[in-house]
Amino acid sequence: ELNAEDARNMLLYIADKMIASKPYLTEIDSVIGDGDHGIGMAGGMQKAKKKLLRMEDETNAYAVFEAAGKAMLMSMGGASGVIFGSLYLAGAKDMEPKEVLTAADLAKMERMSLLAIQDRGKAEVGDKTMVDALAPAVEAMEKAASGSLLDMLKAAEEAARQGMEETKKYVARFGRAKSLMERAIGHQDAGATSVWLIFQGMREFVE
Ligand code: ADP
Ligand code: MG
Ligand code: MG
Repeated sequence: ELNAEDARNMLLYIADKMIASKPYLTEIDSVIGDGDHGIGMAGGMQKAKKKLLRMEDETNAYAVFEAAGKAMLMSMGGASGVIFGSLYLAGAKDMEPKEVLTAADLAKMERMSLLAIQDRGKAEVGDKTMVDALAPAVEAMEKAASGSLLDMLKAAEEAARQGMEETKKYVARFGRAKSLMERAIGHQDAGATSVWLIFQGMREFVE
């Protein structure tokens, strides 16, 4: 279970982790993308962090996710801002305020985020995007939602990692990697890597 303070500290922990991963994500996006994913992600996380640091008194756990997602959406810009901002924002923004989130609440939140991301970006599993990591992570969360938060996050992290690995097998249907066609095979998608790192961060924080 996660109260608003825990959620805030978890998202701050993830923000620091993603900021530290900037060179790694840049390197991955440089191979088949345009090399700016680490910069975009770190910039968005910096803004999210700034916002979260001012939310000490927040008691609605959903509001914490919503604020972080909004900060990312507005600062990252473009398609990836909408996509990665939605990861936190889409499942939290229309929820009744809640002080403590259960594992099931978190699973539901990420399902709604996945739906919003797919509605917006039209990517399916196999298109070599972050959806390849997020969709299996959401499924793993739903399967494990009646157990402990830690066990659920462990399952989500592992599913995201496998999904990220799978992206190596695919040609891309979006972004610069699309024009590389078969030459993108063998290389992993940057956004899927971020999703894995974010779920890894959730698990590390809760553990
Ligand atoms: P950009 O592609 O504008 O340079 P980034 O480098 O920050 O933005 O992000 C690229 C990542 O965004 C890709 O690796 C991929 O995972 C994800 N992505 C791109 N298009 C889509 C889409 N339509 N749906 C879901 N994810 C997408
Ligand atoms: Mg890029
Ligand atoms: Mg770009």
